Amino acid sequence: MKILVVNAGSSSLKYQLIDMEDEKCLCSGGVDCIGQQTSTIEHKVSGKEEHTEKHHFENHTEALKIVFGLLTDANFGVVKSIDEISAVGHRVLHSGEDFDRSILITPENLAILKKNIPLGPLHMPANIACVESCQSLLPNVPMVAVFDTAFHMTMPKHAYMYAIPYEDYEEFKVRRYGFHGTSHKYVTGEAIKMMGTSNCKIINCHLGNGSSISAVKDGKCQDTSMGLTPLEGLMMGTRSGDIDPACLEFLMDKKGMDIHQMLNYLNKKSGFLGISGVSSDARAVTKAAEEGNERAQLVLEMTTYRIRKYIGAYAAALQGVDCIVFTGGIGENSFDTRRRVLEKLEWLGVKIDWDKNNNCPRRKNVEISTPDSKVKVFVIPTNEELVIARETKDLI
Ligand code: ADP
Repeated sequence: MKILVVNAGSSSLKYQLIDMEDEKCLCSGGVDCIGQQTSTIEHKVSGKEEHTEKHHFENHTEALKIVFGLLTDANFGVVKSIDEISAVGHRVLHSGEDFDRSILITPENLAILKKNIPLGPLHMPANIACVESCQSLLPNVPMVAVFDTAFHMTMPKHAYMYAIPYEDYEEFKVRRYGFHGTSHKYVTGEAIKMMGTSNCKIINCHLGNGSSISAVKDGKCQDTSMGLTPLEGLMMGTRSGDIDPACLEFLMDKKGMDIHQMLNYLNKKSGFLGISGVSSDARAVTKAAEEGNERAQLVLEMTTYRIRKYIGAYAAALQGVDCIVFTGGIGENSFDTRRRVLEKLEWLGVKIDWDKNNNCPRRKNVEISTPDSKVKVFVIPTNEELVIARETKDLI
């Protein structure tokens, strides 16, 4: 059984075709800058050189048509006909309060996704456009929606409520939802295997361009750092994370910004980029810090301080912690970020084998704590596409 995984952003599209017999990725690729002058499509067949094409894609539907062409292409394809695709799993940003798990996309469910567009006005239209395009290109193939929010739907009410007038929660469903759910779910499953029991308290740190932390007990999410949108929580590549909401009015007044400009400022111009003035990319910021750039050094201090604050808060929320997981581009690869976070967590019962931390092999689950560490620390490469493909297979 071959499953196509489609992951659409507001102006991007990533895909993978996975053979579920051995869960092997047959090919993967991505399109960026959809809707702009020139988009680049990068298509990679496992074990072969990457193939790149440039196009102008007005929208996601046009991009998907080219992707389907590449999947069956004589030179770059991996299937003879698109009939070999048994199902499509779509990453969908927001479930609202309507779903707490993945769903088969029926006309009724599609209508609910459309109702929830206001909860994710940038991503949801792209997600829905991809569902509808795949339905028209593959009319007899089942489609599944796998939500970024679903894993977090087990949060208790006292964790997901914002302290605003209750009627506004009831009417508009304004509350904490959390994101990166497929990643938090995947690494939770792997951590449970490494712990040998699901009966444990886990703090997952997904650190990438977007970053979020989750607190998990007995395999179920109890709290997470992102909120109604992915802006809340940790400091990220270009996002501010937590900030006093009163700063918005103050800055809008001083800088003459409207609310849209203000949100663009917090989403696109803040975080690592805003503080360092160098880059939103952790590698570039780390390099600048090593070269003596004080604002880049401040980014590293602020980022890791905030991660520690959340770990401390979640250890208290869970009334203990058995293991801490690092994942995402930064969590998996930046031994320096892990060191800065972990060297100040000895009080919590964390003891690290620094050799293991500094020489962690790539793309492998690794325990970096010492055998006598009270709290285990794991580096677990995430695999969101595999979660989407597995859930799609289970549902069909
Ligand atoms: P996204 O949230 O877009 O999925 P990723 O999880 O791919 O992002 O993470 C991207 C981030 O990971 C970037 O900031 C990048 O600099 C960082 N990163 C990747 N490799 C390394 C590395 N070897 N050392 C430090 N940071 C890294």
